[in-house]
Amino acid sequence: MTDWVAELARCTRCGACREVCPVFALTLREPDVARGRLARIEAADASGRLTHADRRALTRCLQCGRCREVCKADVRVPQIVRDAKYRGGAGMGAAQQSITYLLADPERLRKLTDRARQFAVALGRATTDGSGMRLRFALPYLEAGRYLPKLPKQSYLSRTTGRTAQGERRLALFLGCGAGRIFTGVGEALDTILATMNLTAAVPEQACCGLPAWGMGADDAAREALANFLTAFGGESIETILSPCASCTAMLQQEMTEALSDTPLADAARIVAAKVSDVFVWLRENDFHPPRLSLRVAVHVPCHTRRGVRGGDALTPLLRATGARIVELPAETAADCCGMGGSFGVFHPQEAREIGRKKMAAMLAARPDVIVTSCTGCLVQLRDLADHFGATVPVRHGLELLSG
Ligand code: SF4
Ligand code: SF4
Repeated sequence: MTDWVAELARCTRCGACREVCPVFALTLREPDVARGRLARIEAADASGRLTHADRRALTRCLQCGRCREVCKADVRVPQIVRDAKYRGGAGMGAAQQSITYLLADPERLRKLTDRARQFAVALGRATTDGSGMRLRFALPYLEAGRYLPKLPKQSYLSRTTGRTAQGERRLALFLGCGAGRIFTGVGEALDTILATMNLTAAVPEQACCGLPAWGMGADDAAREALANFLTAFGGESIETILSPCASCTAMLQQEMTEALSDTPLADAARIVAAKVSDVFVWLRENDFHPPRLSLRVAVHVPCHTRRGVRGGDALTPLLRATGARIVELPAETAADCCGMGGSFGVFHPQEAREIGRKKMAAMLAARPDVIVTSCTGCLVQLRDLADHFGATVPVRHGLELLSG
């Protein structure tokens, strides 16, 4: 694992990160900006112990990477915060530990989804657009009124797992928990698109990419998820692994090699990480001809696309190629996080909504016909925000538009 001491020492305390940090913009508290977080980690490292307040403070970072974009010393704040969480067991209660454990394995994840579906009707009331429900009462780490997406009777993965690849390219799909278990339209849209290219992608058995566990500092659960991913997707028969969720893509392309660097899976992780492609980047590079669309579209580019996905944002240019009008957002909000920020949205739901409210307000003010993103985590947060604004504009995954 990386030794962060030298990198922590590079922080000049210049304060440039104060201009961009969404959490600092909300609270104006020095402990909530990159500079304050790094000082806290440095002090804790020097004293050899993280206090409860330190651990709690570490959960107040979205790990959005905005600070890194402006940091002239190139201090990798999100990675340093994440690593400190692991060392300090930041705020990880029994509930989070259980969830990260359940997500890591296909069978455990399937049972978790089935159980959630059984209880869903009693927990919430349907939203007006029918895409999900609002919680009737608060649950651990979920406030009353929180939007949760509807769980389908049959998930995309339950219908397609075991399918083999067809066509000239040896493609495999890694759906992630969101597209695989909840948003069935994402996988179906990709199947439609690939069919126009005379291709079918294989769907190996799969669970979580490990990002929720990794982001919370639950490294053992993250490594278990990644080991399962490598078992399923490590075969030489797979040429390219398509991922429709920006957060999963960043985890598999970037963080997987770091997470497994000191394990016997390090070499396999490097080889397989190179095969993972953001689905929109792949479509752009492989002569996909998008349909014609006559829509005003607001695009939310996920933080993981900005700072973690090879090839960056390919969804926006693909949408432009359809003839759709991409609405301009004010410069100060265009790059903003939706507020989900992995475990930030779990530990600080109200602040997460406050952070996202600014972004949603800017998008709605542009009067789009549809709001689009490429991360299923952002999709949940954006639907929650739109619902709280009482907006009826649909929030969709980019593939659902590109499939025509
Ligand atoms: S911008 Fe970089 S160097 Fe400046 S205070 Fe923030 S983290 Fe430190
Ligand atoms: S990663 Fe985002 S939330 Fe965390 S300190 Fe940097 S700008 Fe702030």
